[in-house]
Amino acid sequence: MTETEILIIGGGIAGASTAYHLAVQGHSVTLLERGQVAGEASGVNAGSIGAMGWGDSPDLESYLTMGSLEIFKSLQLDLGYDIEFRQSGTLQAIHTEAQYAFTRDRVLHLRAHGYCVDLLTTREARSLEPEVNPALLGCMYLPLRAQADPQKATRALASAAMQNGAQFFPQHEALAIQQRRDGSYIIETEQTMFGAGTLVLAAGAWCGEMGEILGLRIPILPVRGQMWASEPLPPRLFQTISSAESALHWHTDPGNGPVTPPELTHRGGVRLTRHLYGRQTRAGEIIFGGDRQLIGYNKGPDAEGIAINHAHAAEVLPMLREVPIKRTWAGLMPFSLDGAPLIGRIPQHRTLYIVSGLASSGFGRGPMAGKLLADYLHTGHRHPVLAEADPARCVTRLE
Ligand SMILES: Cc1cc2nc3c(=O)[nH]c(=O)nc-3n(C[C@H](O)[C@H](O)[C@H](O)COP(=O)(O)OP(=O)(O)OC[C@H]3O[C@@H](n4cnc5c(N)ncnc54)[C@H](O)[C@@H]3O)c2cc1C
Repeated sequence: MTETEILIIGGGIAGASTAYHLAVQGHSVTLLERGQVAGEASGVNAGSIGAMGWGDSPDLESYLTMGSLEIFKSLQLDLGYDIEFRQSGTLQAIHTEAQYAFTRDRVLHLRAHGYCVDLLTTREARSLEPEVNPALLGCMYLPLRAQADPQKATRALASAAMQNGAQFFPQHEALAIQQRRDGSYIIETEQTMFGAGTLVLAAGAWCGEMGEILGLRIPILPVRGQMWASEPLPPRLFQTISSAESALHWHTDPGNGPVTPPELTHRGGVRLTRHLYGRQTRAGEIIFGGDRQLIGYNKGPDAEGIAINHAHAAEVLPMLREVPIKRTWAGLMPFSLDGAPLIGRIPQHRTLYIVSGLASSGFGRGPMAGKLLADYLHTGHRHPVLAEADPARCVTRLE
């Protein structure tokens, strides 16, 4: 039996960041990962980092995005990890008059609340990103947004955690969990058993399954995201690229229900909207994705959705019409039923915590989610913004 103070289940960006920030503060930390660190969503995402500034009244979203931006910068600039970080900015393409009116109002609202966004004419957008379609009606510009390599960034956090004394066990799946009389835990894997005073669930889209092992209903569902990549090409794209189509659709109809998280692209098999995000990597691949489908633990990409996404990307960047798809892949995102993250203590147990529900933007928000949870565990005080992410709002005992 290996004893540890704090045991984390899940070696994605949320778990790796929690481990790093706990280890830096001197805690004895063990992390179990069923496969390899960054082997799931945290290693296969688009690497787009969302940030719009702190605003004049910083909320959870400001903390998660701006705090994570600082952690990515610090990995790249101060700690010596080349994670391919660039504060590239994002352009969000506007295709229709309705999208233009929606984006204009959104930009005015955000700027009035202190956020760093702008509305560009297509000519202005094309001076930043020459391949942008001249037929667009304009672009929303988010200059603080950034990008990094997801594998390298997640592994950098894991490596920094290990340098500070955290112990990582890849290929160790938590199969069973028992609670001892004193409230501490025994976690069983095929190879060995671990004892831990405190348990942190960072199992991403598998948090619901972890909950079942503990007799809890944790309303986090797996949502498939899929992407495609071109062959490596000379540098052509400089920002990360998105489209206003889904933003307007979800503003009008978030689409959530009793068993459905908000902001999906499909209901059942029926497409509701097209979502788009992408960039060119340092190696030259142009990568794009967008679909968000609730179809269980299916990780196989779907060719029709990929073709629709490619066509959408080519509406924004006409050069892509001539650029064939070289490879495709998919991963599972942890969507909570109400769309908000779960970061904090699970009240049904005294020493059980969770950091998850980071949905489609967990790469960009995971580093600070881990730091906020680590600070909570270290100090015993919950940062006020974590009230928005309190697991008590939705975790219940299984009947
Ligand atoms: C195609 C795609 C594109 C995306 N693009 C972006 C983007 O551009 N920007 C952005 O911010 N976000 C993006 N996301 C979302 C982002 O990747 C996720 O929100 C984030 O990676 C979630 O991190 P996590 O650590 O919570 O989960 P994960 O990365 O899934 O990590 C959880 C880990 O827990 C492990 N695990 C599960 N059960 C057990 C067990 N019983 N024992 C041990 N280990 C276990 C799993 O193996 C896994 O490695 C994208 C996601 C996908 C799929």
